[in-house]
Amino acid sequence: MSQLGPGLPDPEEGERIRALDRAHLFHSWAAQGSVNPLPVAGASGRHFWDYTGKRYLDFASQFINSNIGHGHPKVVDAIKAQADRICMIASIFANDQRSEAARLIAELAPGDLNHVFFTNGGADANEHAVRMARMHTGRPKVLSTYRSYHGGTSTAIGLTGDPRRWANENSGSACGNIAHFFGPYLYRSHFHATVEEEECARALAHLEQVIAFEGPSTVAAIVLETIVGTAGILVPPQGYLAGVRELCDRYGIVFIADEVMSGFGRAGEWFAVDHWGVTPDLITFAKGVNSGYVPLGGVIISDAIHETFRDIAYPGGLTYSGHPLACAAAVATINTMRDEGIVENAARIGKEVLGPGLREIAARHPSVGEVRGMGVFWAVELVRDRETREMLVPYAATGAQNRPVDEVVAACKEQGMWPVYNYNRIHLVPPCTITDEEAEEGLAILDKALDAADEYAVSG
Ligand code: PLP
Repeated sequence: MSQLGPGLPDPEEGERIRALDRAHLFHSWAAQGSVNPLPVAGASGRHFWDYTGKRYLDFASQFINSNIGHGHPKVVDAIKAQADRICMIASIFANDQRSEAARLIAELAPGDLNHVFFTNGGADANEHAVRMARMHTGRPKVLSTYRSYHGGTSTAIGLTGDPRRWANENSGSACGNIAHFFGPYLYRSHFHATVEEEECARALAHLEQVIAFEGPSTVAAIVLETIVGTAGILVPPQGYLAGVRELCDRYGIVFIADEVMSGFGRAGEWFAVDHWGVTPDLITFAKGVNSGYVPLGGVIISDAIHETFRDIAYPGGLTYSGHPLACAAAVATINTMRDEGIVENAARIGKEVLGPGLREIAARHPSVGEVRGMGVFWAVELVRDRETREMLVPYAATGAQNRPVDEVVAACKEQGMWPVYNYNRIHLVPPCTITDEEAEEGLAILDKALDAADEYAVSG
C-alpha cells in the first residue's frame, strides 16, 4: 500500500466530491457562494492528503482538535471494539465506557472537580456551564472577555468576544445578560502597561471595576478561555488566573474555565490551568478529549456546584450525552496519551523546537511583531510596522483587506503545510504527537512563506 492508500491519487473523484459538496452542503461561518473546500482523501499521523496526491503537514490539527494526530490505531480500535459491543445506549443507563471516561477526566482535573456532564461539543458545554452557574448562584449575568471564542450556539456566541458575535446579535440569535471586559494582552495593552506585572495588576483592577459597575449581586459567572485560542493565543501573565479566582471567591461568582481548545495537552499540560495551579469551579472541554474521532464535549463540575443539583433537577440534557462510541474514544485517547507521553511531547516541542524556532523566524522577518505560546499552541502576530505595531490586516478585516495574510497562508499550503489564520495572525497548532523533524519542516515552510508578508512591512 502506498502512503496515499489504495487506488489513489484520483483527481476526478476529488472533483466529483467537491461538486456534490457545492450542490448540497451548507458550510459554517461562510458566504456559501465563496466556499471551495479541498476534498481530502485520507489522513495519518500529522498529515492529510488530497485526491491529487498532495500531502499537507497538519499545522491546524483540523479545528485545533486532533491532538493525538490522525488515525491513531489505539483510538480507532477502541471505537471499532465499542461499535461491536454497543453503539448507543441512552444516558439514563450506566455504561462502562461513559463511567470510565468520567472517572479519567475527573482524575485529570484539578481540585474537587469530580463530576462530568457530557455534551456533544464545546459550545453546548459552555451553554450548560453557564446554566449551572446561574442556577447555583441565583444570578443572571455572565462576564466574558473581548477577544474570545466560546462556540456557535446562542449563549456561547453571546459570550464570544470576536466579530462573529455581531451578526448573531443583529439577527437576535445571541443570548443577552452578558457583559464583556478586557483580559490581559501585553503586546496590545488596553491598560497602557509595559511589563507583565503591570498588565496583570491593571487587568485585574479593570475586571473588579466591571464587577462593581455591573453589580456583584447580579453576576453568576466569569467565563475565560484559560489561554485565549482563536482570538490570539494569549497566555495570561503570572498571577492573573489566581487573581480572577480571588475575585470570584470574594464576590460569590462561579469561575468557568473554557478549556475546549487549551485542554488535553494542547498547552503542554492536561489542562492549561495546571500551568498556574488554579482550580476553577467549572471546566468546559471538547476537542482534544478524544481528538474529535467521535464528537464529545462536557463540563467538569466542582463538588459544591454538584451539591446544588443533589435534590433539585438539573434542567438540561442531550440525547447523545456520553455517547458510548465517543466515550470509548475518550478512554482510549487519554490512556494512550498517558502511555505514550504525548502531553510531555507537546510541552517539550514547545520549549525546544517551536518556541526557539519561531523566535529565530521573528528575528529574520520585519513583518513579525510578536510570537507567543506554549506546548503546541503558538501564534505569530504580523504587523506592517514593528514600531507602531500596526496590524498587517486590521481587526475584523474582510475580503481584500485580508490579502497580505491570505498570501502567507497560500504560500504555506503551496509548500505542503496547513496553518490556521485569524486576521493578522498565523497560528501553528499541530498535533501533540508531532516529531522534532515535522515541527522543523513546518517552521521552514513558514519561514519562506513570511517573505510574502515582509513585502507589506516597513523593513529594518
Ligand atoms: N470554546 C473554545 C475555546 C473553542 O475554541 C471552541 C471551538 O473552537 C468552542 C468553545 C466551541 O466548540 P465546538 O465547536 O465544539 O462547539
